[in-house]
Amino acid sequence: MIINVMSIESKIQQNIPLAPLTTFKIGGAAKFFVEATVPEEITSAILWAQSNSEKWYIMGGGSNLLVADKGFNGLVIKNDCTLIEWQDAEAKVETGALLAKLVMEAVEKGLAGLEWAVGIPGTVGGAIRGNAGAYGSSIQHNIKTVSVLDPETNIVKDYTLDECKFAYRHSIFKEKKLLALSAIIKLQIGKTEEIRQTMVGHLAGRSETQPKEPNAGSVFKNFNFNELKELNPELAMEAEKDSVVRGSRISSGWIISRLGLKGKKIGGAMISYEHGNFIVNTGDATAEDVLVLMSLVKQKVRVESKLQLENEIEYLDY
Ligand SMILES: Cc1cc2nc3c(=O)[nH]c(=O)nc-3n(C[C@H](O)[C@H](O)[C@H](O)COP(=O)(O)OP(=O)(O)OC[C@H]3O[C@@H](n4cnc5c(N)ncnc54)[C@H](O)[C@@H]3O)c2cc1C
Repeated sequence: MIINVMSIESKIQQNIPLAPLTTFKIGGAAKFFVEATVPEEITSAILWAQSNSEKWYIMGGGSNLLVADKGFNGLVIKNDCTLIEWQDAEAKVETGALLAKLVMEAVEKGLAGLEWAVGIPGTVGGAIRGNAGAYGSSIQHNIKTVSVLDPETNIVKDYTLDECKFAYRHSIFKEKKLLALSAIIKLQIGKTEEIRQTMVGHLAGRSETQPKEPNAGSVFKNFNFNELKELNPELAMEAEKDSVVRGSRISSGWIISRLGLKGKKIGGAMISYEHGNFIVNTGDATAEDVLVLMSLVKQKVRVESKLQLENEIEYLDY
């Protein structure tokens, strides 16, 4: 890989507002900002930041992100590497490609396996890092290999599925601050009409249960049901009765809703009436409003349900 720090310098902008680049529409500006359109530019941008003693942060679609009100005192690298190349039932995808675009191209080719992903905003890279999932599946079931940049060494290496260490909303990329540059996605030959029908069902489910106001998806991870059985057996029984156990997890939205927190508001941030695990920006929410509301929810759940919620959204601090 040829790395050219000088050529990236001409693309770096200053004082760029980040709120419009997130689905939450919250947060301040980046001191420095660059759109990387080929993977080599991501490496060059990191080297530029390192050689100028600036912090850096990679951003995809900003759909799982809460940006601090003061913004980010460093370089934000917006991943705009979007190439998707198909060979039979496999695609080599640069991680700045939108997951929605990959899903639509797959369905047009009659390839099955990504139906679960319909309606999830953001990039393939963001999905890989958080092992995004829905409807009982997640991106780990579509991955063959991931091309990974270690920003400490600047070495790019292909990771096998095992090496990605995927788990519920978890991966090696999250654990070790590694960057996913591209991935081989493997799908199966299916029937376009059947794939479309499944996706239409998923989209209808989303529009019934998810808010329309700006948000960043689920705020907290769903709770492990076995842990719940140990910590609060009565609540576990209630969850089974209410059919909110999905696989090995129980909906945190249900835990939050049953405490009467829907509609709870701090400043412009509010727990959605449609979904207890979504915080919406009612118009003028600040990151501080969201953080205070999150901490209030956690405290109430801890005291009343004996459970510790874990954040799913990422906070980009100043
Ligand atoms: C309405 C709505 C519905 C949603 N539904 C779901 C759902 O059903 N299931 C689900 O799992 N999520 C869901 N989400 C959350 C979100 O869309 C996903 O987590 C998505 O995969 C995030 O991708 P992104 O590109 O927007 O990541 P960003 O928000 O830009 O970044 C998230 C994190 O990933 C890191 N990152 C981004 N790109 C890379 C990369 N290439 N390499 C390494 N790290 C990287 C960032 O630094 C950051 O820490 C939803 C969000 C919204 C707003």
